[in-house]
Amino acid sequence: MGAHRRRCDWCNNGTPIVRDMDPVNPDYQYWCEECARALIIKGDAIETYRELEGEPIYGRLLDEHCTLKRFYQFARA
Ligand SMILES: [Zn+2]
Repeated sequence: MGAHRRRCDWCNNGTPIVRDMDPVNPDYQYWCEECARALIIKGDAIETYRELEGEPIYGRLLDEHCTLKRFYQFARA
């Protein structure tokens, strides 16, 4: 049980590394690294998010791919 057994809501396969805390579509809250990266590259990065792995995996993706990082924030649990 719990978030660690979830799968990515987008590809239904990968292990989620980030959760969208203010999702446009409630069916798409959990994202794996590959899907999250694709979303950032598409220019549609998650605005209010929470890291799920206890390390800033999504933050690193933003660092690598998104020049607008300052507009995004961590959501407090
Ligand atoms: Zn995925």
